[in-house]
Amino acid sequence: MALLSNTSFDNHELVSFCADAETGLRAIIAIHNTNRGPALGGCRFWNYASEEDAIRDALRLSRGMTYKAALANLQLGGGKAVIIGDSSKIKTPELMRAFGRFVEKMGGIYITAEDVGTSPADMENIRLETRHVVGLENSDGGSGDPSIITAYGVYVGIKAAVARKLKTDSLRGVKVAVQGLGHVGSYVVERLVKDEAVVTVADINSENVKNAVDKYKVTSVAAEEILYQECDVLSPCALGGIINDTSIDKLKCKIIAGAANNQLSEARHGDELKKRAILYAPDYVINAGGLINVTFEGPNYNKDKVIKLVDGIYDTLNEILSYAEDKNISTNRASDLIAESRFQDIENKWGSNKLSA
Ligand code: NAD
Repeated sequence: MALLSNTSFDNHELVSFCADAETGLRAIIAIHNTNRGPALGGCRFWNYASEEDAIRDALRLSRGMTYKAALANLQLGGGKAVIIGDSSKIKTPELMRAFGRFVEKMGGIYITAEDVGTSPADMENIRLETRHVVGLENSDGGSGDPSIITAYGVYVGIKAAVARKLKTDSLRGVKVAVQGLGHVGSYVVERLVKDEAVVTVADINSENVKNAVDKYKVTSVAAEEILYQECDVLSPCALGGIINDTSIDKLKCKIIAGAANNQLSEARHGDELKKRAILYAPDYVINAGGLINVTFEGPNYNKDKVIKLVDGIYDTLNEILSYAEDKNISTNRASDLIAESRFQDIENKWGSNKLSA
């Protein structure tokens, strides 16, 4: 295995390799920071080209979770697990249980959840081996699919960004281009249409496009065109890395606010958006609804309480936008600085964390 560059590690507290010959499990659990509480982060099941790629992903994603949890004011740290392999070929209940046994061995400093390639049903299998798992099915205190709450948070973020940039509290007539009509994107469209926004959509999956057009009477464009629509808001709800050297000069939006993780290819692209007067709502701030939701899973799960907390994304984004303006820095750098102030050099808050009880 090639050596990883030093930059991949960002003071990660612990990185563990897990293997179970019987089930074929090969996994990595990365814990970035636990100052605010146990490290919560999903378990990604992905057919990585190399172990190095898998480690890099685990390091990057776990770091991102620390920032996301801190910005959402949760008493949680950041972690992530990756299982290496093609989930459609090697995933079995036994393999997920073997993974659950490794989560259990971490003794509660890592709490797993679903991510790309895993589902609430997989979490139920993990639950047979450990209680340090969230994102369970609706039964037994689980909260089900987190995408609906994630989408609601993205909608709240869009409203805050529109209020700031376009000076209006209403989305009526606001032009929004939504990239990706999957679990989150389709619910974002539903919300926007309800508020009478003018929505254009695209997805590489034609079935998803047809469903959205039929159901919400929105306009669709080719997948290659959606980023470059003349619009008020571009809402990326598909993949990361879409704001890059190739795309940035062609953008014709005033605001970028969507669910996709890691929308900026590099932090400097946030500076470039600032130069172009495009308001960027940092992705991990407005897509935190799902994380907030699973945090409150359990016998006393209360959806109304979760919604209230997700409504807080409005004020959080405003705080970041004001800070960025005051310091004359990009919004992504502002949110990173605020997050860091919340998890670096603070006393360990584990004592009061419900999830570790
Ligand atoms: P998903 O896989 O259900 O949907 C993604 C959709 O994007 C799919 O329909 C896919 O066909 C489409 N797509 C892929 N490439 C595209 C392209 N080039 N152009 C147009 N469409 C394209 O995923 P999801 O759960 O809806 O998540 C969407 C994004 O939000 C991801 O980046 C995810 O990491 C992020 N996110 C999701 C959640 C959640 O609760 N599901 C929480 C936080 C962040």
